[in-house]
Amino acid sequence: DTIGADLDRAVATWPEREALVDVPSGRRWTYAEFGAAVGELASALHASGVAKGDRVGIWAVNCPEWVLVQYATARIGAIMVNINPAYRTHEVEYVLKQAGVSLLFASLSHKTSDYRAMVEQVRGRVPELREVVYFGDPGWEALLGRATADAVYEELSCDDPINIQYTSGTTGFPKGATLSHHNILNNGYFVGESIAYTERDRICIPVPFYHCFGMVMGNLAATSHGACMVIPAPSFDPKATLEAVQQERCTSLYGVPTMFIAELNLPDFASYDLSSLRTGIMAGSPCLVEVMKRVVAEMHMAEVSICYGMTETSPVSLQTRRDDDLEHRTGTVGRVLPHIEVKVVDPATGVTRPRGTAGELCTRGYGVMLGYWNEPEKTAEAVDAGRWMHTGDLAVMREDGYVEIVGRIKDMIIRGGENIYPREIEEFLYGLPKIQDVQVVGVPHERYGEEVLACVIARDPADPPTLEEVRAFCEGRLAHYKVPSRVRILDSFPMTVSGKVRKVELRERFADGQR
Ligand code: ATP
Ligand code: MG
Repeated sequence: DTIGADLDRAVATWPEREALVDVPSGRRWTYAEFGAAVGELASALHASGVAKGDRVGIWAVNCPEWVLVQYATARIGAIMVNINPAYRTHEVEYVLKQAGVSLLFASLSHKTSDYRAMVEQVRGRVPELREVVYFGDPGWEALLGRATADAVYEELSCDDPINIQYTSGTTGFPKGATLSHHNILNNGYFVGESIAYTERDRICIPVPFYHCFGMVMGNLAATSHGACMVIPAPSFDPKATLEAVQQERCTSLYGVPTMFIAELNLPDFASYDLSSLRTGIMAGSPCLVEVMKRVVAEMHMAEVSICYGMTETSPVSLQTRRDDDLEHRTGTVGRVLPHIEVKVVDPATGVTRPRGTAGELCTRGYGVMLGYWNEPEKTAEAVDAGRWMHTGDLAVMREDGYVEIVGRIKDMIIRGGENIYPREIEEFLYGLPKIQDVQVVGVPHERYGEEVLACVIARDPADPPTLEEVRAFCEGRLAHYKVPSRVRILDSFPMTVSGKVRKVELRERFADGQR
């Protein structure tokens, strides 16, 4: 189906249920109101000359207008281009040109980011950009004023491209995945099915909408099940997130692992009433077993689900189910979703590896993107002739079909010929009480090729763990080659806006061999 048709069904089925709540401003929409607001914006865009296939950019932090733009562009078949709110002029100019954006929606400003000033700086250099509309500015009302009651749109097909989503840029420069209604609507629907969403669910979404976690696993999963989208804050804030859960009686909470860690570590964590929660999703990067256990035990999220996915596959291909036991929900990323295939291959030969052995994960099915926007060579490197997406991630499929993610091929450390997976060491070091969070990377070493460096955030900044303490903790419990030979104490990790640690930056920063 198209996203517009799916929304119409939600509006017809649950007109009185709440669809969207913006906690900071207190604004709320029922499905009937939300459907009407989307219709008005779609008509206004149409009247402004935006046609099927035109690119409409969105460069904004989370706000209700973001969601309206998502559904209104889909309704008329325009291609929404998600632009990372952390970008600065150089990057935004690149994306606007690369995607050929003709109309741009943007936040006015947020924290230290003055989006209007940045847009005005680059505008003159992007001739295709006809119009810019800022949220919370009179221009937004002026745009809506163009809506008519009788707009007729072009016929849409569910295979039309409607979205260009950029990857997180964890390993390099982000790539723009072109996605269709069919790609992302199906994925949102099936993700929602796995956690059994109904119109009684209220989903707290602190992850950015610009990324697939927010707009597909959040928004599309919600609207395809009549659930409510709750926006706790424009950008991630652990306190605001828990306050929103409490105030709005949310049943589901999303986050990448570092977000859950930040929430669990709030000094007043115990004072929030989280008893309305039953489920949620932790995804995006490796989910440490200990963190998962705390989320289940201390946040009431008995049915919390882990998802594995990537922007290029709309995104989710593997997910745990609500009736999986804790062992499967902590140690694995679950099983393959309906209508998707996965296989684990030898990255060198492409031959499928036996269950229980590590190899590159490949996925196929409705989720695989149409391609990277205007980059056919890069598409051909990622998606093979059989339409298999090569994920670049190492995985093991267990005998029972559950899949363990070992890590990214690019993050694997090779020390003196031994393959080392950072995640295993991270899980282990997380058990050292002085460590609040830890990232393990390989850095160059004359003799071994690479050596193991642990970047640590100390639980008590005044009393960080020493290298000797870390080594003593590992002694006799980890093979000697996995034991970190260097430890660096940091205040924070370099992150993408989607909440992933940029290991590539840690590697570069500490490649000099200094101790
Ligand atoms: P880029 O491709 O630009 O370097 P990225 O790969 O981080 O960035 P995304 O598409 O946002 O961009 O993320 C997909 C990747 O996130 C996956 O390939 C995988 O490495 C990682 N990932 C996602 N979910 C999980 C999970 N549950 N466990 C471990 N890793 C995960
Ligand atoms: Mg990637």
